[in-house]
Amino acid sequence: MQNDTISVNGRTYHRPKQPLVVVCVDGSEPGGAGSDGGGYIERAIETGKAPFFAAIREKATFSYADCVVPSFTNPNNLSIVTGVPPSVHGICGNFYYDTESDSEVMMNDPALLRAPTILAGLNQAGSDVAVITAKDKLRRLLGVGLDIAGGRAVCFSSEHADKATVAENGIDGVVEKIGMPVPDVYSAELSEFVFAAGVYLMETRRPDVMYLSTTDYIQHKHAPGTPVANAFYAMMDRYLSKLDEMGAVIALTADHGMKGKQTGAAPNVIYLEPVLQAAGVENFRVILPITDPYVVHHGALGGYATVYLESQQDFQTAAAALSAVPGVETVLTQADACAQFGLPPDRVGDLVVVSTFDHVLGSSPEKHDLSGLTEPLRSHGGISEQRVPFIVNRPLDTSTDACRNFDIFNYSLNHAQEKRA
Ligand SMILES: [Zn+2]
Repeated sequence: MQNDTISVNGRTYHRPKQPLVVVCVDGSEPGGAGSDGGGYIERAIETGKAPFFAAIREKATFSYADCVVPSFTNPNNLSIVTGVPPSVHGICGNFYYDTESDSEVMMNDPALLRAPTILAGLNQAGSDVAVITAKDKLRRLLGVGLDIAGGRAVCFSSEHADKATVAENGIDGVVEKIGMPVPDVYSAELSEFVFAAGVYLMETRRPDVMYLSTTDYIQHKHAPGTPVANAFYAMMDRYLSKLDEMGAVIALTADHGMKGKQTGAAPNVIYLEPVLQAAGVENFRVILPITDPYVVHHGALGGYATVYLESQQDFQTAAAALSAVPGVETVLTQADACAQFGLPPDRVGDLVVVSTFDHVLGSSPEKHDLSGLTEPLRSHGGISEQRVPFIVNRPLDTSTDACRNFDIFNYSLNHAQEKRA
């Protein structure tokens, strides 16, 4: 006898009666107030090449939500699949400073995750689950607790699609099955592969729950409404309409927005180390949690940084110096940042710095390789990229006011099932 509901991290979810596809579109700046460029989806709808999104806006749920700050990829993907903020699941950046081992650590190791996922909860309760990510950096975290060995789950990345095995990923021969070569890690096709694989799995295995997570390579380089961005969203629209035709509930949100950070010849960068040195603060460590192995398109420049101070006596001096820099939106103490953003104190420095919508933060000029930036810089990480789309191809029986991106499983499993738009 199987339970109809599961409880994960203190929240209750109904198990799906129709297949559910939750999509996290990386860096999908939305339209509406404060938007940069009118929103990717909204501008694509205007071209007439995104009829699926247009129909949802007309007849179903086309809304907005707030993501987690720092508005980075890993914290938000993990919040979406756990239904809770980083204070509970522990993943508060792509990267953090481990004070115990005195080392800077990538946050892609499942050992760092402190909460179970809704995907694992549904899988363990008997639902078949499929997880497909663009970059492999997220795959291991998203796959925690899935019953791959028992044949009830599939979890792989586009990036390593040719390396997928039944033992590790629950599927092999992915490239042959999808009929697309493994895309370059810096390409639109890396995300297209995710959707193509999702359609293939829906046609062949029809999993009860799918989680599809793309990469923001296109959004980092192309503003809403530009030809490349419109083509990217038209591609997405084609695959999502196929999933819709197969009867899936489709719920789409984003990990964060994306805004232009360059008004002149060079990006508007605030380098924090020279600011602290000029103020007489000597022993400090600046951590930029946007950092990951794939920095060509953003140069590790984002809207959020955290600073560790050797001496608490430097605290006031450092906070005052950072606050005084034009382009800094706010400087918070660890306690205030953790309370305001829902972050784990043991993985956040003494100060948190957030830049304004048109600025980014760096450590020092020599530590950033900007040679890969071939277009004006676009990036994310701050409060200014907190607004994201919140879209479901069904009407909901409750309001989406004040919802978060990590409420998407709640809305799609508890408020959208068994209704057709
Ligand atoms: Zn992202």
